[in-house]
Amino acid sequence: MPDSSNATSPWIPAGAASFIERHAARFDGMTLDALDAEAHRLIAAHEQLVDHDCINLYAGTNIPNPRGSALLASTIGSRPNLGHPGAKYNKGMQHAEQLEVMLSTLLKRLFKACFVEHRVGSGSLANLYAYMATCRPGDAIMAFPDAAAGHPTHHAIGAAGLYGLKVHDVPFDIARMDVDVDALRDAARRIRPKLIIVAGSMCLFPYNLAAVRAVADEVGAYVLYDSAHMGGLIAGGEFQQPLIEGVDLMTGSTYKSFGGPPSGMILTNAPELAERLDRIAFPGLTANFDLGRTAAMIIAVLDLLEFGPAYAQACIANAQALAAGLDAAGVAVFKPGQRDQFTMSQHVALNAIPYGGGNAASARIEPANILFTSIGLPLPEVPGDANGIRIGTQEITRWGFAPTDMVKIAELIARVLVGNEAAELIARVLVGNEAPENVKGDAIALRRLFQNLHYIRRV
Ligand SMILES: *Cc1c(COP(=O)(O)O)cnc(C)c1O
Repeated sequence: MPDSSNATSPWIPAGAASFIERHAARFDGMTLDALDAEAHRLIAAHEQLVDHDCINLYAGTNIPNPRGSALLASTIGSRPNLGHPGAKYNKGMQHAEQLEVMLSTLLKRLFKACFVEHRVGSGSLANLYAYMATCRPGDAIMAFPDAAAGHPTHHAIGAAGLYGLKVHDVPFDIARMDVDVDALRDAARRIRPKLIIVAGSMCLFPYNLAAVRAVADEVGAYVLYDSAHMGGLIAGGEFQQPLIEGVDLMTGSTYKSFGGPPSGMILTNAPELAERLDRIAFPGLTANFDLGRTAAMIIAVLDLLEFGPAYAQACIANAQALAAGLDAAGVAVFKPGQRDQFTMSQHVALNAIPYGGGNAASARIEPANILFTSIGLPLPEVPGDANGIRIGTQEITRWGFAPTDMVKIAELIARVLVGNEAAELIARVLVGNEAPENVKGDAIALRRLFQNLHYIRRV
C-alpha cells in the first residue's frame, strides 16, 4: 500500500496527498481501454452529480448555455492563432479571426466600454495583466482584506505578491460592508499606492466607487474593480456600473454570474491602459489562445445582451428571498449592522460560527446534495476554519427557481444545520437536527422540478 502521508510533497494538504497516491496507483494498474472508459465515466458521473442531482449554491460557478459549451469542442480551439485579427502570422485564418472582432465588439456593447482584452485565460490572469499595466514590482497597492472577501490574487500569496507588489489592506466599514473612505484617504496618503483594488469574492452591496475614485485621484493611484463574481449582474445593469462610476480597469471571470466558459476579461476606457494591455496580451503573455473559448464567450454575451436585466433581477430576488427564508428557519444569516437588507446581489452570507465553521458546515451539508463553501466575514475567528458561509443564486436562477422556491431550499439547509448549536460550539463538531443523508432525497426531488435552462438563447 502506498504511504498515505504527504511526506514526499509536504506542501500539499495531507488529505490531498493520500487521495493522489491512491488514485495514481489505481490508474497505474489499468489498461489503456480501461483508462479511456474510466475518464468518460468520471466526466458523466460528475455532470450528473453537479449539474443535475445537486442544489448548487456555490457562488463561484454557473451552468453554461449548452450551445456555448458545444463550441468549446470545435477544432477551432485546437488550431494555432497568432497575432491580431486581420494580421495573423499563421494562414487560413480569414474566417476564424472575425470571431475575435465579434467578441470584442459584443463585450464593449455589453459593458459600454471603449476597450476589452479577452485573450486572457482566467480572472486570475486578468488581475496579473492589470497589475503589469499599472504597477512595477516593488510598488504598493491596496486591496480588500480576507474579512472583506479579498481574493488571493490581490494578496501576497497570489498574483500581486508573485509580481512583487506590496499589498496593504483597504480599510473596511464592517457595519456597512463598504470601503471606509476616511480611513482609506488617511492610509492612501501614507502608503501612496499605485493601485487600489475594489471588490472581492463576495459583494453583498455596491461599493462607494466615486469616493474611492476621489481618493485615488488625490494620491495618483489607478482604481481596479474585480468583477469576477459580479460580471453577470453588472452586464444586466442591476448592480453598480464600475466603469461609469470611474474605475480605470474592470477585470473579471466569465464562468461565475457571467455564465460563460472559464475565461477572463479586462475592460477599460483609458487609451494608454488599452495599449499596455494589448501589448501584455500579445506578444507579451499570449501566443496562441483558444478560439473555441472565444466562440463560447460570444454565445454567453449574446445571452446577456438579450436576457441580462431579467436574469440579474431574478438572481437578486432569489438571494433576497433565500436570505429571508433562511432567517425565518433559524439559520444565522449575516446582516451588517447598518444595513436594512441581507443583500443587494446574488450573494447571501451566513455566520458559520454556530455551525463550527464554514468549511465544516460545507462538508456537513455536501452529503445532502447541497453545495456551498466557506468565506471570511468580519466576525470573530473560528480556529482552524473560516467564520462564514457564502451562497450564490446564479445557477439555481438559470435553472428556473423562483423566489417562492427559496423557502424550500431554506428548509433543507435548516434541517441539516439548525439543531444543537450549543453542543456544536462545545464539541467543535457539527450536530444538526437531521443527518444530511436523510435530506438528500428531498434535495434531489426539489432539484428534479427544474429541468430547463432560463435566460439563454435557444435559436
Ligand atoms: C474567482 C475570482 C478570481 C479568479 O478568477 P478565475 O477565473 O477563477 O481565475 C479573481 N478575483 C476574484 C474576486 C474572484 O472571486
